[in-house]
Amino acid sequence: MHKMIYLDNAATTRVKPEVFDAMRPYLEEQYGNPATSYTFGGNINNDIETARQTIAGFIGAESKEIYFTSGGSESDNWALKGAASALKAKGHHIITSKIEHHAVLHTCQYLEKNGYEVTYVNVDDNGVVDLQQLEASIRPDTILISIMFANNEIGTIQPVKEIADIAHKHGVLFHTDAVQAYGHVEINVKDMGIDMMSVSGHKINAPKGIGFLYIRSGVYIDTLIHGGAQERGKRAGTTNVPGVIGLAKATELAKTTLSARRDYETGLRDHLISRIETEIPYSRLNGHRTQRLSNNTNFCFRFIEGESLLILLDRAGICGSSGSACSSGSLDPSHVLLAIGLPHEIAHGSLRLTVSEDTTLEEIDYAVDQLKEIVERLRSMSPLYEDFVKKQEAK
Ligand SMILES: *Cc1c(COP(=O)(O)O)cnc(C)c1O
Repeated sequence: MHKMIYLDNAATTRVKPEVFDAMRPYLEEQYGNPATSYTFGGNINNDIETARQTIAGFIGAESKEIYFTSGGSESDNWALKGAASALKAKGHHIITSKIEHHAVLHTCQYLEKNGYEVTYVNVDDNGVVDLQQLEASIRPDTILISIMFANNEIGTIQPVKEIADIAHKHGVLFHTDAVQAYGHVEINVKDMGIDMMSVSGHKINAPKGIGFLYIRSGVYIDTLIHGGAQERGKRAGTTNVPGVIGLAKATELAKTTLSARRDYETGLRDHLISRIETEIPYSRLNGHRTQRLSNNTNFCFRFIEGESLLILLDRAGICGSSGSACSSGSLDPSHVLLAIGLPHEIAHGSLRLTVSEDTTLEEIDYAVDQLKEIVERLRSMSPLYEDFVKKQEAK
């Protein structure tokens, strides 16, 4: 078998043909600038507003609460820096978790260098945020709580509504990075009490370079990108029209397929998990067993280097990831795996396989067969493993 098997859907996804078809006219024919007043450009504005309504409707928001951005990283940066600077008269304290995406963590580090204080709340060994510590961390000068909806490495879904309730009980704003959850989990920003939410298109079959920040009406944050009057004067820059149209189309598709897709992916995911757990010894599932994204699996294999595993899987035509795409290339162990309590040497050897609705059971079975062989081969070359087996036998 030489076909490529793509099991890295948490890193990015394929643009769906329907999405591409919806975008195409805005690249080829309707290429006008929507900010112009002549009909050619101006009509495109209506299409953008329709797209905004589609997206708003999907999360229970008003269309005026949707601000298009270049993606998840920009939305996270804007939510945090924008709130920090708008609310600095109230205070300088922000609360987040130890397992956030780097778009949030590195923004927090930047804010710390600029006079803000950040508390990084712990998670339990399943990756669920410690709600008691969260609440106990709130101070009179706390201005923002930012906790991700679902983790990109281990797939754990957070109790978002409870976190929002805690924030609001103390008069604190709540932002969530929902990049991994959007289109996979039902989200209603009003019912859940979300004040700001980051979303990215390329994780749900829209192109790279488009996303949005939901900002609840009544929440005021400073502008990140200054310039023209686009996005209610809050986010300048000529609108990424094909991107917006593609994101709306991907949203529409995600909405209609959500529950069937979730069931299908959960079936694949659980099959993958159960085969690995029964057939590969000394493997460990990372993340919550049930409160987890339907497309996510993340494993550690003792005595195995994540990078060698990925290289050999690649040779077998399988695309996976060790930790997050953003940190692979660096040899640091994943901050998420360290936060759930794994020791350094184990946190190095992780493998994330994330499925999509296009993944088949045959692909999963092939991937596990290959993985099993590769793990055996790597372990057979490991003196540590040899020692370990000898000790086990001596018992
Ligand atoms: C991918 C991802 C981001 C970054 O989104 P981009 O659109 O690639 O900038 C942020 N947060 C999470 C949880 C992600 O998975």
